[in-house]
Order: sequence, then C-alpha cells, then structure tokens
Amino acid sequence: MFEAVIGMEIHAQIALQSKMFCSCSSDSFEKEPNINACPICMGFPGQLPVINEYAVRKGVKASLALNCEVQSFSKFDRKNYFYPDLPKGFQISQFDEPLAIKGWIDVDVNGERKRVGITRLHLEDDAGKLTHVENGTLCDYNRSGVALMEIVSDPDMRSAAEAGAYARMVQTILRYTGSSDADMEKGMMRFDASVSIRPVGDTKLYPRAEIKNLNSFKSLESAIDYEIEKQIEMWEEGKPMDKEITVGWTDIKGKTYFLRNKEGADDYRYFAEPDLPPVNVTEEFLEEIRKELPEMPTEKFVRYTEQMGMSTAEAEMIAASKDLAKYFDEVAELSGDNKRATTFVSTILMAHLNKNVMEIGECKVTSKALADLIKMVNDGKISMNMAKGEVFEEMFEKGSDPVKIVEEKGLGQVSDAGELSKICEQVVADNSGSVEDYKGGKEQALGFLVGQIMKATKGKANPQMVNDILKKLIG
Ligand SMILES: [Zn+2]
Repeated sequence: MFEAVIGMEIHAQIALQSKMFCSCSSDSFEKEPNINACPICMGFPGQLPVINEYAVRKGVKASLALNCEVQSFSKFDRKNYFYPDLPKGFQISQFDEPLAIKGWIDVDVNGERKRVGITRLHLEDDAGKLTHVENGTLCDYNRSGVALMEIVSDPDMRSAAEAGAYARMVQTILRYTGSSDADMEKGMMRFDASVSIRPVGDTKLYPRAEIKNLNSFKSLESAIDYEIEKQIEMWEEGKPMDKEITVGWTDIKGKTYFLRNKEGADDYRYFAEPDLPPVNVTEEFLEEIRKELPEMPTEKFVRYTEQMGMSTAEAEMIAASKDLAKYFDEVAELSGDNKRATTFVSTILMAHLNKNVMEIGECKVTSKALADLIKMVNDGKISMNMAKGEVFEEMFEKGSDPVKIVEEKGLGQVSDAGELSKICEQVVADNSGSVEDYKGGKEQALGFLVGQIMKATKGKANPQMVNDILKKLIG
C-alpha cells in the first residue's frame, strides 16, 4: 500500500494599487501591454527599488491570519536566473529570512478536520508575461514587479481533495483579510503542487514531482490525482522516481509532462538584495495589525453552528464568503430571526444566485429588504410560501420593496378571523365526506380541507388560524 505526500506553494497577488518596489499601477488585467512599466520594474541600471509599506502590512496581516510567527527581522534576496519575462535578470524574493514562519490552518475534508502546517510566507515580485506567436515571442511587462506573497505549506496533505480544501481555505482567508483578491481568472492566485509517493508506514520523503502553475482548483486536483496514479504505477513496477523533477499540466490532455530537472537553491545564487534595507517588524506594529483582523471564517463557522443553530453545511457555505457572511449577519440582526435568515440566505437566495451565476455583490435584494420580508412572515402579514415564491421572485428581479409588492399585488395574508370562519364553514358544508372521514380518525382528511380553503383564498389564508378554526368546527 502506498500513500501520497503533497505540499503546496501558493502565489497570491497582494491587493495593492502599485507594484512591490515602484509606483507603477499593479492593475495588469486586460491592459494594453507595457503601459505599466518604469525603469525600476524593468531593471535599468542604477535604479533604486523602494519597499511598498502596504505590501508588508498586508503580508503581515495574511501571516497572522494563517497563524504564522512574523519574524522581527526579515530581508530581501536576489534570486538569479535568466528568462525573457525577467528583465532584471533576477527576482527579488526572500530566501533564508522570510517575513513569517511556522503557521497552520485547519481544513475540513469529507467531514473530518485536518491541520495543515505552513512552513513560511514571504514577499517577492512577479515576472512579466510572455505570449508565444507564430514567428516570435511577445513580452508584456505590466506584471513585472507586481507584489506577491508566496505561502509554502508543509508536506502534510495526502490526497487531491485535501490539497483542494487547503487551497480554498487559503483563498478564503486571504479575501477575508483583504490581503489579496485571489481571483484566479485574473491570475491573482496560482499553485505549485509537489507530489511524491511512499509505502504506508514509511516516514521518509522520496523525490517529488513539482507541478507548476496550476491556475484553478479543478486543475490542481486533477493534476495531483494524475501524478499520484502515475507515481504509484512507477513504484509498483519497482522503478520509483530517483530525482526531483518539475512538470507542467495540460487541462486538455489531462496529463502532466516533463519540463526539467528540479532546480536547487544553489542554482539561483541567492544573495542579499543590496539596494533594500531589511524589514523590521516591531511588537507595536504587529499589535496594530492584529487589531485590524476581522472575524475569521473558522470563528464564524463556530458562531454560526453553536450560537445560531446552523447546520455544518449551511455554516460552511455562508462563512466561505466574507461578503455573503456580512450580508447574512445583517439580515439576521435586522430581522431578529436567525433561523429564517438562514433559510432565506442559504437556500432561497443562494439558489437564485447560482441559477443566475451571480455574486452576492450583484444582488438587488438588500439585506434590509430581506429582513423586512422575514418580519412580514413573522407578523403573519404574508404566508411563508408567498414570501419565498412570488414576493421574493419580484424582489430578486427588480429589487423592489417587499411591503410595496405585497400591497400592490394584494398578496397579504388573510388573518381576519371573521372572514376565515365564513370560508371554513362553506368548505366544511361542501365537503361532508371528508369531514366524516376526519371524524372517523383519518387525520389526512384535515389536510384536504385546509387545501380547499387555501384554494378558495388563493393561498392567502393564515394556515395556523385555518387549522384552529377547522378543528373547532368539526373537532
Ligand atoms: Zn515600475
């Protein structure tokens, strides 16, 4: 029997207006090539980089949220290599003294909690982008020098599902702290996954394959699954990998392919960046950032399940998005009804958002309007069916106020005892057969009578009152 040993490196673009060491705009998405570049991020001789203080702040914030120890002393180093997307001839990164070390996060996989260690978090700058065309290669340096953080995990994961859950949780945490938008479609978050195989019970680490540049959760999980299967076959044939390699992944073929033998640190000739001072993080600075940390997803999860009575699935879904959680908290507070707020947000609203491929930020139903709708149900002004059906539909489509919708469409619940009694009496008179059945012990006959009253009132009768009146009439 074999087991997989998986570690991950996550590169996330730090949410900043400008680049890591110069004042160029860091917004490179769908921009004209090379409009955001200057002598500093192009590596011209004699130019001096300056550390973007906000990159350090956001890096520290992410580090704290990932339970890392932020080092009081860290420094930048040059990682030397030549490639056309790297005009400086080196990347500015952090080698032996990273910003933060020794963190961890908990992830849930198939109902089980698993802790994944984080080796380090360091800051670095990004390379440019190459586009290969028929008769050459085009270089776009808009991304060159954009601030990144690299989060390196311990080799604690044992399956593609665990790696996926870890990556999703890191994305959630980065978004919660505002340290990265982590939008993979815009290339703001990418993964490298290292995979090796060993016999179960063995504690040694065997040579690994590092899968480079995975840019979706699906690619991440598929590539790991493929690599695990391939390496287990090699073990079974008695020919496990004898050296570390770097591989790529193609979604179309669903295969990894050999790129090169893996580089060691020696290959990069790291040395301290002579043009930048070290980073000193004081206790006061840490305390200041700690105070800015919002309630984190795991804390929200605990609050939702233990104090608000949500199921695990509901709490996980709502806590996974900072914006959705904020929206939910508002609805719950304004309506004063946690249970109905949960129902409306986790099922009715989510179903509509998913169907329309929308984010909560694009939704026309404000948290106040949804809270008002819940209050109307609780006050007996409309039925729950009416609320989650016709009224919610209209709110979702047009963003209208629920009070107005109910007024204009005459959807208000009939809670007038006199009026309801009259209808009940009529239905009882018209359905003597069912009345006899009920008296004879057939409970479901009552349901039929309630149904007739609902039909007569077009679903607007207050069901609790109808039940009470009917029982009085025939019980
Ligand atoms: Zn620049």
